[in-house]
Amino acid sequence: MIGSGLAGLSAAWQAAQRGCAVALLTRAKDIHDSNTNLAQGGIIYRGREESPEQLVEDVLAAGAGLSSRQAATLLAEEGPRLVKDILIDELGVPFDRSPENPAELDLTCEAGHSIPRIIHYKDQTGDAIEKTFVEHVTAHPKVDVYSNATAVDLLTTSHHSLEPTDVYRPLACVGAYVLDQNSGKIFPVLAKETILATGGLGGVFLHTTNPQEARGDGIALAHRAGARCVNLHLIQFHPTALLAPEGRFLISETVRGEGGTVVDRHGREFMQRYHPAGSMAPRDIAALAIYQTMLETGEPCAYLDITHKPADWLRQRFPGICALYLDRGIDITRDRIPIVPAAHYSCGGIGTDGWGRTNIDRLWAVGEVACTGLHGANRLASTSLLECLVWGTRAGQQAWEQIESDREFYFPEIADWRYERTGRSGAHRTGLAHHPPYDVELCGTDPQRKAIESCAPHPKRVGLGNQPLL
Ligand SMILES: Cc1cc2nc3c(=O)[nH]c(=O)nc-3n(C[C@H](O)[C@H](O)[C@H](O)COP(=O)(O)OP(=O)(O)OC[C@H]3O[C@@H](n4cnc5c(N)ncnc54)[C@H](O)[C@@H]3O)c2cc1C
Repeated sequence: MIGSGLAGLSAAWQAAQRGCAVALLTRAKDIHDSNTNLAQGGIIYRGREESPEQLVEDVLAAGAGLSSRQAATLLAEEGPRLVKDILIDELGVPFDRSPENPAELDLTCEAGHSIPRIIHYKDQTGDAIEKTFVEHVTAHPKVDVYSNATAVDLLTTSHHSLEPTDVYRPLACVGAYVLDQNSGKIFPVLAKETILATGGLGGVFLHTTNPQEARGDGIALAHRAGARCVNLHLIQFHPTALLAPEGRFLISETVRGEGGTVVDRHGREFMQRYHPAGSMAPRDIAALAIYQTMLETGEPCAYLDITHKPADWLRQRFPGICALYLDRGIDITRDRIPIVPAAHYSCGGIGTDGWGRTNIDRLWAVGEVACTGLHGANRLASTSLLECLVWGTRAGQQAWEQIESDREFYFPEIADWRYERTGRSGAHRTGLAHHPPYDVELCGTDPQRKAIESCAPHPKRVGLGNQPLL
C-alpha cells in the first residue's frame, strides 16, 4: 500500500481485516501527513429523504459533461452505506451532531449541491477521519507501517525481472523500489498486489492548497510502468485560497455555503455576472470569475466577506479557520479575507475501473491519484473523501480476493539497486528534506535516476499566469 491518506488507509483496513499482511508505506515522516489531513469541509453522506439519483445528478452537473454516470452511480449507491458502516459505526469518527436534534448528524450544504448532505467534524473533518483511521490501522496486527519510505519505481515482470524471457509475460506489477529516507538506501519491496494511493499533484503549481509534497509521484510511477493515465490536464482550482506570505490556505466552500460573498477591493459583488447562483457558483466558474476579475482590475486577489454573520457564531462554526487566520493578522469576524484561486485537486489520474484496477495486472490505484471518471472536468465539493473511501474499500477487498484465488503467484528475481560511491563532482545528490545530500552515484535506468532526483526540492515553480509570490 503506497500512501497513508484516506484511500490507502481504507484499502489497508479492508485487506488486513480479511487476513492479508499489509505493508503500508508513506514518504512522510508522520503517517498523518497527507491531503486527507487537510480536508476541512466534510464528506458526503446522505440528505434527508434523498435518493441516490439526486446525488448522481449533482455530480454530473458539476463535472461539465465529462463525468462517468457509472462511477457517479457507484459512489451514490455505495458511499453513504460505507460512511455509516465504516466511519461512523466501526471506527467511530466523531462527526458533529445537529444542534436542533443531537440524535442526528449535522448536515451542511456546499456549492454545487442541491441539498444539505455533507457531514463534518467542525472545520477539521479530514483530520478527524485520518486520526481515527490511523489509530485503528496502525493497531492492526496484520499491518506494518513504514514512514520516511518513498516509492521511486514500480517493479514489473517486464522491466525488472532478471529472467529475460519474462518480457513475454503479461505486464504485471510485483512491488516497488523504495527509498528508505533514513538510510538513503533503495530496496526492492515485493508484493502480490500493489495499491497506489499517493494523492494529488497541486505542489507543482504556484498557488496551491495542497502540501508541496503532493507532487504526483504515483502518476509518474504508474506512467513509467506503462499504466494508462487519463485527463491529467483537468486540474480543479479552488476559488478561495487565502493569499498570505506564508503560503496558500484553503478557505472551505462552507464559508460561501454559510453566506460568505465574493467581492472586489471596493466590497462590490461581481459573481452574478458569471453565474445566476452568484457567490455560490460551482468551483470552476467561481475560480475563473475571480481570476478574470483579478486580470481586469490588476489586483493580486479578490476578497471573501462573511463579516455580516455574528462573531460568536463564526468562531463556533469555523474555529480552525478563525484561529489560523488570526495568527496571520486577519480576523474573519471583522475583515474581508484576501483570496486567489489555487490548484486544488487533480480530476484526472491513473485510469481505473470500479474496483480501482489499472491496465497493469496486480496494480491498483485509488483516491486522488486515480481517475475513476467520477469528477469529469470538475469535482463536486466533498466527493473526493467519499471516493477515497469507496474505491479504497473496494480495491482492498478485491486485491485480497485476487490473492486468495491465485495459488500460483510468480515473483521474479529482481536486481538489487546498485550504488557506487564517488568523490567526483557531478555525483547525483538526493538532497532529501531532513537529510544531508548523499554522496553516491545512483545507478539504474534513466527513469529511475530521475525519480530519485525528483526527491530534491524544486528550485523553481510554475503556476497560474505570471502572478508573483507575495
Ligand atoms: C486544503 C484541502 C481541503 C480539502 N477539503 C476537502 C473536503 O472538505 N472534502 C473532500 O471530500 N475533499 C477535500 N479535499 C480533497 C481531499 O482531501 C483529497 O482529495 C483526498 O484526501 C486525497 O486522499 P488520498 O488518500 O488520495 O491522498 P492523500 O491524503 O494526499 O495521501 C497521499 C499519501 O501518499 C503518500 N505518498 C505520496 N507519494 C509517495 C511516494 N512516492 N511513496 C510513498 N508514499 C507517498 C503521502 O505521504 C500520503 O501519505 C481537500 C484537499 C485539500 C488540499
